[in-house]
Amino acid sequence: MMKRVMLITGASRGIGASVAYEAATAGYFVVINYNKSENEAIALSEKIINDGGECKLVKADISDSSQAKMLCDEALTYSGKIDVLVNNAGISSFSLFTEITDKLWDDTFNTNVKGNFYVTRAAVPHMVREKNGKIINISSIWGVCGSSCEVHYSASKAAVIGMTKALAKELGPSNITVNCIAPGVIDTEMNNALSDEDIKSLCDETPLERIGKPWEIARSVLFLASDDAAFITGQVLSPNGGFLI
Ligand code: NAP
Repeated sequence: MMKRVMLITGASRGIGASVAYEAATAGYFVVINYNKSENEAIALSEKIINDGGECKLVKADISDSSQAKMLCDEALTYSGKIDVLVNNAGISSFSLFTEITDKLWDDTFNTNVKGNFYVTRAAVPHMVREKNGKIINISSIWGVCGSSCEVHYSASKAAVIGMTKALAKELGPSNITVNCIAPGVIDTEMNNALSDEDIKSLCDETPLERIGKPWEIARSVLFLASDDAAFITGQVLSPNGGFLI
């Protein structure tokens, strides 16, 4: 494969879908992972192909260790390499702290933390062999500053930052960079539970007076994936409109 290959987890919708589209139209071959949203994933792949890009769809629940391994194996079998891994798949929910059930805590960590670990562990041996790779983890501002009624989500996203920093140290000698993006509030289905009033008050608290768009996160991913970011590793880039400075 001549093109650079980018594997994006959770790319059927929202930020991941935007990363896949922007990367494909910028010349990457993209491996689009999805789990439940098959129709959306197919529609995205058709749009990418119509616009001259190339991609492959792989269904996998990344919270399952064997499916996560299968995802990387399929990407490698098909395209021969993974130059960039974007760990984007994630889930969020609201709950008072004392009402967080064991299941809700586990579900959140299984996808947001263990899923990231499973996919990365499967991709790293290939990157180490190639002495080349870029890993980009999607955290959240809430993983930096914490969010009320989202302790489970905030803790999982803080864990992603910890994984980023530690792995950057371990993989630097193999010429692999590991960075993190901690977006502010972005206009995706993840925020469907927020009322218009909630969104307005978030905008009021944001110096740029608005929430972000998925493509604005995609552009940050493309920057960290590019050679312009070759000397950047272990960092947290936070496109958030100034909400958190
Ligand atoms: P979204 O619109 O809800 O999309 C979530 C994506 O993750 C979907 O494509 C979904 O795939 C996938 N996914 C969830 N669980 C999965 C699993 N077990 N295996 C494989 N894929 C799975 O969310 P989003 O807003 O784009 O969020 C993307 C990432 O950005 C998440 O990590 C989120 O925490 C983070 N983030 C979002 C915001 C925001 O305001 N939106 C802010 C900061 C950080 P299927 O539908 O196919 O199952």
